[in-house]
Parts: sequence; structure tokens; C-alpha cells
Amino acid sequence: MGEIERFDLVIVGAGPGGYVAAVRAAQLGLKTACVEKEDRLGGVCLRVGCIPSKALLDSSEYYHLAKERFAEHGIQAGKVGLDLSAMMARKDKVVEELTGNVRKLLEGNKIKIFAGAAALAAKDRLEIRPAGKKKGSQTIEAGAVLLATGSEPTQVPGLEFDGKRIVSSTEALSFSSVPKKLGVVGGGYIGLELGSVWMRLGSAVSVIEMMPKVAATLDGQVGRTLQRLLKKQGMSFHLGAKVSEAKASSKSVKATVEADGKTEAFTFDRLLVAVGRRPLTRGLNLEEIGVHIDEKTGHIPVDSAYRTNVESILAVGDLIAGPMLAHKASAEGIAAVENLAGQPGEVNYDAIPAVIYTWPEVASVGLTEEQVKEREIPYCVGSFPFSGAGRARCMGETDGFVKLIAHGRTDRILGVHIIGPRAADMIAECVLAVEFGASSEDIARTVHGHPTFSEALMEAAMGIRECSIYAS
Ligand SMILES: Cc1cc2nc3c(=O)[nH]c(=O)nc-3n(C[C@H](O)[C@H](O)[C@H](O)COP(=O)(O)OP(=O)(O)OC[C@H]3O[C@@H](n4cnc5c(N)ncnc54)[C@H](O)[C@@H]3O)c2cc1C
Repeated sequence: MGEIERFDLVIVGAGPGGYVAAVRAAQLGLKTACVEKEDRLGGVCLRVGCIPSKALLDSSEYYHLAKERFAEHGIQAGKVGLDLSAMMARKDKVVEELTGNVRKLLEGNKIKIFAGAAALAAKDRLEIRPAGKKKGSQTIEAGAVLLATGSEPTQVPGLEFDGKRIVSSTEALSFSSVPKKLGVVGGGYIGLELGSVWMRLGSAVSVIEMMPKVAATLDGQVGRTLQRLLKKQGMSFHLGAKVSEAKASSKSVKATVEADGKTEAFTFDRLLVAVGRRPLTRGLNLEEIGVHIDEKTGHIPVDSAYRTNVESILAVGDLIAGPMLAHKASAEGIAAVENLAGQPGEVNYDAIPAVIYTWPEVASVGLTEEQVKEREIPYCVGSFPFSGAGRARCMGETDGFVKLIAHGRTDRILGVHIIGPRAADMIAECVLAVEFGASSEDIARTVHGHPTFSEALMEAAMGIRECSIYAS
């Protein structure tokens, strides 16, 4: 047996938590390795999450615009057709390019990449088993280990994935034909985004959600508006309803839906089960090493420096508590490594944006009106509709509004909730405002370009002191 190679830091998982942490570690002078079990680097986010879903959302939105909206702009585009395999090939190309770039990034930073599934053999030693049928495993040593193995789709008893008719988000990113009828179990952001993709391409989409509302973490007013606008586009909703069983045949899937004490049978071509994701700790050998796992949630508890109960083993991203978002994972990866290198790394959990890439988009940061009320914080709300923004009129995208919540006494911004065109990009200004502890007056007095969507934010901020120029 040859000599065992030793690294200052070994990172398990090359998702947005792991690969970003690896680059930061290399910048800080740590001899770093990254172990990934899949062929392509970039994690769920790049392979089967954020990136392919947004590529399909963008393509399907172009298709929808060409079919339904060009005429109002005076464009005669002729007969618009769909080449689904070309659309999928484009999505795959985007994924291929970006995952390839992550490999170059790691190599460029002299990070050693190991291909295979890692398990802890001791708290400072990892065994790497190669993927597939390849034989032989490799052992490496680590001064510290950063676990960034992410999450996997939650399986629901009675609705087990078969990969063809009853599927997770991964398969719903690659259907070879447009399902005539698509059932979506779960009205969270993944269900609504992928439901939107297939609805735009021609599916009749039914969302079945146990809660009485969709996207339950959203500000209530924004969530209700989102549901109304998606319904207007043709999505149907069964809220307070539970899919208790699904039976797949070669051509369809029959779902039993329970609501209000009644049972109804639905037949779909495919059923997407998108009820959430669970931290992926399987196979890491954590129990044997003594790393705690929260029994209820499956998360790994960590302290403010992202250390597990075993000090030299850290964890970030979907594996630990908090919103399962790529940018949260990356921010934690950077902070964890900076702490390890003796620097003051930190993540401000009050200033993490969340986006739903439906159309219109939804984006938020900070507290919702419901949370502010529950905490009995005195507050003021300023809101402004996009129908009042010149740019939105030019684009013909007047649905939605900006809602800004500020502290009733100090005027400090507590939360911003946007539903409307380009909300995903507009939220950045609001995150910065929250991060800097800005007041609504700071935004109101900041000169915003004209005509832009962000003028709606400025007007909402002016609305707090009842000095909006355009509100009627
Ligand atoms: C359909 C979909 C759409 C999404 N859209 C968005 C979005 O728009 N914006 C957003 O912020 N978030 C989005 N997310 C969530 C986002 O993808 C995750 O929050 C993010 O990928 C988590 O990053 P991570 O680094 O913690 O883990 P992951 O990205 O899951 O990466 C973990 C990596 O570890 C590897 N791994 C696991 N076990 C081992 C092992 N034993 N050995 C070696 N390697 C291992 C895995 O193969 C994987 O590559 C989406 C998710 C899905 C499913």
C-alpha cells in the first residue's frame, strides 16, 4: 500500500456549498481536496436543480411569449411550433458548460478532485469508493473535513418514485414528451416552477397541496396573488388536499386525492411528487464516527463556525438547518472555511433572498407581514403596483406589486416582498438595504432610473410616509 495522501481540508460534495468552499480554502492557502460521487461537478444545483430548471423556465417562457404575446406587440411570428428535444438539448448544453466550468475552476485553484463516494473511516480519514462497477477504494487523510453532501427528494409512502410515471423533479426536467395531464403533489417553489414549465408547453397542470395555500412561507398577500395569477394562466389547484395513493400503469397514473373527508380519483399522464427534500447523510458513516444527526429533520446540527459536535468535521448547505438554497449553501461554505482559517466568517440569515421563478417572478427578503404581526413588532407597509410603473406598461407586464414592511418607530426595513416582472433581480437592492440596516426613507430618497421596474420599489418605500408620487 502506498503512502496515504494528507490534506488540510477534504470537502465531501461538489455542489454550491462544497465547490465554493473549496475555492475559498485554496485562496486561503489550505491544501484542499474535493470528493464528488457524480461524474459532473456542481451538485444538485447545476446538474438537476437551479440551472436546468431555469433553462427550461426561460425556454418555455419564450415559447409562451411567441405563441400568446407577440401579437399584442405587433409581431407576426407565423406558426409557432415546439421542438422539445431541441429545448432539452439546449438545457443539457447549459448544464454541460457550467459543470465543466466548475471542474476548470477547481483545477485552476489546484484543488485535487477525487471521483467517488466518500465515507468517514475515522474523524480524520476518508475512504473513497469509485462510482459504478469500478473496483478498489482509496484512503485519504484530512486535518478537517467539510461535509457538503446536500439533499435528495423526499419519498412519500404510497407515492414511491418509479422514475417514469411517478417522478421527482429530476425526471420532470427531462420528459421526452409533453404530458397531456400533469399532477403535481406539493405547491412549493419546485412544484410551481416545474408546473409552469409544462403548463406553458401545453400540459393541463393540477397542483395538489396539503396546506390551504401554495408556497406557504411567502407573505400571505403575495402567495394569494401568485396563486390567482397562475390560475389565470391555466394551472388548477386543489388545496387542503392529500394524495394518499398513486398507482402507475404503462400509460398513466391514477392518484387518490383526499379532501374534506371525501375521496376523488384523478388520472394523470405523469405525477410529479415535489413535497420537499431531505438532507443526504446516507453512506457517510456518521453514526459510527459519532457525528450527531437531528433525528426528526435529518439535518446535522452545527455551531456558528459550522462545526458539528466533532470539532474537526464541519457541515454546510442543504445538510444543515435553514432554507435549502444554493446561495445560502455557498455563503456558508465560504464562512465555514474562513472560520477554519482563523478568519471571522459569518452569514446573515436575516438577509437571504428567496425567489420563485414563475412568471411573474416572486422574490422576498426578511420578515413577512404575518411574522411581524406574530412577533408584535410595530410596523408600516408601503406597496405599489407594477401597473403604475412606466417600464411595466412598456413591457406589457403589469401584474403584481412591491410590498415593503418597515419598523413602525425606527423605519428600518424588516422585509420586502415582490411579485412581478424581474422580481428576482430587483430583490438584490432590498437584500443590500436589509444587510446595511437601511430605512424605507433611504430607499425612497435614492434616485432610481426611469423607466425601470425598480421605481415600483422606490414608490412602495415612499408609500410608507404617504408621499408616493404615483399612488392613486
Ligand atoms: C428542481 C430544483 C430547483 C432548484 N432551484 C433553485 C434555485 O433556483 N435557487 C436556489 O438557490 N436553489 C435552488 N434549488 C436548491 C439547490 O439546488 C440546493 O439548495 C443546493 O444545490 C444545495 O447545495 P449543497 O452544496 O448543499 O448540495 P448539493 O447541490 O446537493 O450538492 C451535494 C453534492 O454532494 C455529492 N455527494 C453526496 N454524497 C456524497 C458522498 N458520500 N461522496 C461524495 N459526494 C457526495 C452529491 O452528488 C452532490 O453533487 C433547487 C433544487 C431543485 C431540486
